[in-house]
Amino acid sequence: MDKTFEWAVVGAGPAGIAAVGKLIDKGVKPENIAWVDPAFKVGDLGEKWCEVSSNTAVKLFSKFLKTCKAFNYDQAPSFEIDKLDPEQTCLLRYIADPLQWVTDHLCETVSMVKTEIHSLEQENQLWHLKSHQNHFSAKSVILAVGAQPKKLDFPNLKEIPLELALDKTKLPNLDGETVAVFGASHSAIIVLQNLLSTTVKKVINFYQSPLKFAVFFDDWVLFDNTGLKGQSAVWARRHILGKLPQNLERVQSSDLEFHKILAQCQSVVYTIGFERRAVPKVSQMDRLTHNEYNGIIAPGLFGLGIGFPQRVEDCYGNVEYNVGLWKFMLYLDAVLPLWMKYGLGD
Ligand SMILES: Cc1cc2nc3c(=O)[nH]c(=O)nc-3n(C[C@H](O)[C@H](O)[C@H](O)COP(=O)(O)OP(=O)(O)OC[C@H]3O[C@@H](n4cnc5c(N)ncnc54)[C@H](O)[C@@H]3O)c2cc1C
Repeated sequence: MDKTFEWAVVGAGPAGIAAVGKLIDKGVKPENIAWVDPAFKVGDLGEKWCEVSSNTAVKLFSKFLKTCKAFNYDQAPSFEIDKLDPEQTCLLRYIADPLQWVTDHLCETVSMVKTEIHSLEQENQLWHLKSHQNHFSAKSVILAVGAQPKKLDFPNLKEIPLELALDKTKLPNLDGETVAVFGASHSAIIVLQNLLSTTVKKVINFYQSPLKFAVFFDDWVLFDNTGLKGQSAVWARRHILGKLPQNLERVQSSDLEFHKILAQCQSVVYTIGFERRAVPKVSQMDRLTHNEYNGIIAPGLFGLGIGFPQRVEDCYGNVEYNVGLWKFMLYLDAVLPLWMKYGLGD
């Protein structure tokens, strides 16, 4: 393929889906959009996190599905999410299924390119995107390539990857083991619950700071991105702020005995946040940095989603990075008009 598109969207996770939908709603013709992903399976949410309990309410997922005309969600078959209590949280698979339907539907209209982009070069007022099989160009590119769990380096411990630790059915046999869990976020609390439901001998939770809980007000949420919500918040209040399960120990990472305590463990799970996945190599740029308020990386090159999150500040000056499906949509509403005017052309 050696074609020029108006837009290329790299990544078909929730952020890529939102970008394609909003571009079409803004009047870009679907055939002028190249949408690139190696799998088109709703990104990490669809492939790794389906059995994870959400931290946002069903109603925000429904809003995401219904807000873009281009999604044609009113023509979708009935999904289980449509029958759930809108105020409750749910397993992420309930949103992954309709998102797969939306993806399949959008792929029939845009130019779908099933590959992984390895480089981007800017020449003649165009971005040239290359993979091992394809080469094509676009006037503007949205990178929505996602993120991967951060890790620490304790080589003596057997690492249980986060995607297994978050899904009870995928945990390896840990009979009689002591397992270290680093972190105190939503994922950490789910991992603690999963491990404690097995035959582990003990779980030691290493943390840096006190637990944080989201606080809901009429029109905003304190610690919206970093605070515990839903089922994780209920469990944490009951079992961490309340009575600690007998085989759970919590240790601050700055504890002088840290290394001695860690030596009791055979396995480890890191739940210490996410970092941007390796992005395609971009000519003339050693390191990609995005403007954290509007997503601009360079003229005609923009970042979106968990890999390029929006920085937000609340009325108390607390700074967080906005991550979540509905937040990606709202962010696009704010930045797309700008992105459409900030291309490589005259
Ligand atoms: C524990 C947990 C709980 C969560 N709970 C919630 C929740 O309650 N509510 C909520 O809204 N969200 C939740 N999320 C999801 C969250 O919003 C994620 O941040 C979201 O899935 C990120 O979407 P994304 O599109 O940015 O990235 P991803 O889903 O990672 O998608 C990126 C896509 O880009 C593709 N890609 C990467 N590199 C290339 C390349 N070079 N070329 C082509 N394609 C490429 C990847 O293959 C992938 O398909 C949760 C996530 C986790 C881990």
